[in-house]
Amino acid sequence: MALFGGRKTVFVDADILVIGGGMAGCGATYESRYWGRDLKIVCVEKANIERSGAVAQGLYAINCYMGMQWGENQPEDHVRYARNDLMGLVREDLGYDIARHVDATVHKFEEWGLPMMKDPKTGRYQREGKWQIMIHGESYKPIVAEAARKAATEVYNRIMVTHLLMDKSKANRVAGAVGFNVRTGDYYVFRAKAVIVGAGGASHIFKPRAVGEGMGRTWYAPWSSGSCYALPIQVGAKMTQMENRIVLTRFKDGYGPVGAYFLHLKTYTQNGYGEEYEKRWYEDTKALVGDYVDHHPVPTCLRNHALLKELAAGRGPIRMVTKEAFQDPHKETVGWENFLGMTIGQAVVWASQNIDPKHTNPELTTSEPYVMGSHATCSGAWVSGPEDCAPADYHWGYNRMMTVDGLFGAGDTTGGTAHKFSSGSFAEGRIAGKAAVKYVNDMGKAQTQVSEQEYRDLEKLIFQPLENYRVGRNEIVAGTVSPSYLLPIQGLQRLEKIMDEYVGGISTNYMTNGLLLGRGLELLGMLKEDMNSMGAEDLHQLQRTWELHHRLLASESVTRHTLFRQETRWPGYYYRGDHMKLDDENWHCFTLSRYDRNTGKWELEKAPVHHIID
Ligand SMILES: Cc1cc2nc3c(=O)[nH]c(=O)nc-3n(C[C@H](O)[C@H](O)[C@H](O)COP(=O)(O)OP(=O)(O)OC[C@H]3O[C@@H](n4cnc5c(N)ncnc54)[C@H](O)[C@@H]3O)c2cc1C
Repeated sequence: MALFGGRKTVFVDADILVIGGGMAGCGATYESRYWGRDLKIVCVEKANIERSGAVAQGLYAINCYMGMQWGENQPEDHVRYARNDLMGLVREDLGYDIARHVDATVHKFEEWGLPMMKDPKTGRYQREGKWQIMIHGESYKPIVAEAARKAATEVYNRIMVTHLLMDKSKANRVAGAVGFNVRTGDYYVFRAKAVIVGAGGASHIFKPRAVGEGMGRTWYAPWSSGSCYALPIQVGAKMTQMENRIVLTRFKDGYGPVGAYFLHLKTYTQNGYGEEYEKRWYEDTKALVGDYVDHHPVPTCLRNHALLKELAAGRGPIRMVTKEAFQDPHKETVGWENFLGMTIGQAVVWASQNIDPKHTNPELTTSEPYVMGSHATCSGAWVSGPEDCAPADYHWGYNRMMTVDGLFGAGDTTGGTAHKFSSGSFAEGRIAGKAAVKYVNDMGKAQTQVSEQEYRDLEKLIFQPLENYRVGRNEIVAGTVSPSYLLPIQGLQRLEKIMDEYVGGISTNYMTNGLLLGRGLELLGMLKEDMNSMGAEDLHQLQRTWELHHRLLASESVTRHTLFRQETRWPGYYYRGDHMKLDDENWHCFTLSRYDRNTGKWELEKAPVHHIID
């Protein structure tokens, strides 16, 4: 195929364009059809929605289910839980909105064929913990995708969306998106009245513990490239809490999850000498964060903090005590199945390292940081809340609409709403879908208009790396280092190194300060300049190039937010060495940023945290 010559441009018109067919995107597509029977609803996905996103290889538990039908929990309880875990800072209106709708979403999953584990005595869903229910979830994603496929007018798989398009007739209104087919190289121009971004969070912005041939083995899906942040940032949407990166305690080398082990198997941790260590760090932690250390359950970041301190004191490795629980054959089976349905790589690592958890307590470690707004942290877009419970300054029209007209978000995309997980992301997608239909209906006969000049300029920009490679390749006879271009893997490793060393990655034990962050921004700026010289050998590498662009913009946002918040709010996720303490007096607030693509400047500000639940 001629990569640069006979490229086709495909135009797609839609009422609602859903970008990313993961949990949130599938929820948005499904619900948009319910409320917008006659609307054209298009879902576009860079992989194939059948097996895409963080849930691609299945899950063993749905981590957000209230159980309101049995009086197990109420939405208010979940808001309190998330607020506690995030050291006081969550958008309570958004969290409450998800919690009140999430059970209905889970019931739909069961109706669509997801096998749920049931308690044989009560007939209720089998609880793993207060919020988690257990599933046979290897096929979770295909089941959810089927609902979206049936609801969509069209699903476009294998299209990497690179940019949003703005309306040429009305300032600050979205009008579509562009991207390319990663298999055929066709250029796609989507024109839409409303756009919902559900394009997942960001892995591989910090250097991972697994390097070399193992670098794809991260906890978070390696294909999550921060598009859900970069796309809105590029068009000036406000972002919030981007400093609130997540670090996970996981089984070493395979990043296997520990939730089922702690909650269901009742295993516990100890240091290398077989001692309990968390209590040892109580006073130290209290000196940093005050009474937050006395909250129950202990916030996740503070448990990381104790682990990190114990390791730094030279009493590693930290181990999960599995030997006791695994004497029970039922628990042993559950322990292994937990990986087989979700992280099969951990079982393989144990097998290859002669670790049988019945006889050896496996090691734990902390991951490199990731950015995601649906798991246990709050990074993402600043969105309007529900009209019945959002405080006035959190509400500017349509639920889940960003500060750009017609641009909605859900799942990892939206900020301030930790602990929604797979079910909450789908539920939030539904909320955004319903609101987007209302937005489109309210537009009436008005149309959005895209500028031909804009999408033709973007086409040149998007495909330029293929040309850079074609020309520059002639200057070298062998190897991969060229004077004329930078390959995506080289750019990625440079980004990961900067973020790791300057913005609080694993090499510095998550420590940073104003000086390091300032230097990190300078180095990110230099990388940004070099991005004009990216070289892509083929369409696959072109996709890697644009994923790198998105990761870089998301990283800059993380760095600027981290610099802005002058305190250490979440020790165990990262530390500001120049502001080691939590500072409620000055920083019990959200951080907001806005990027101006015309000037390249960022503006940062504080927004109040309103507590609407007692
Ligand atoms: C390792 C891990 C374990 C987890 N375990 C659990 C668990 O046990 N229980 C639970 O309930 N939840 C769990 N979660 C959380 C859950 O997976 C997420 O909350 C949920 O998937 C978020 O939904 P999303 O739609 O925002 O992102 P995703 O589901 O990741 O979907 C994003 C989609 O966007 C697509 N995309 C990205 N960029 C582009 C682009 N530029 N153009 C087009 N398409 C694009 C992706 O391919 C993907 O399909 C886990 C998450 C991770 C990472």
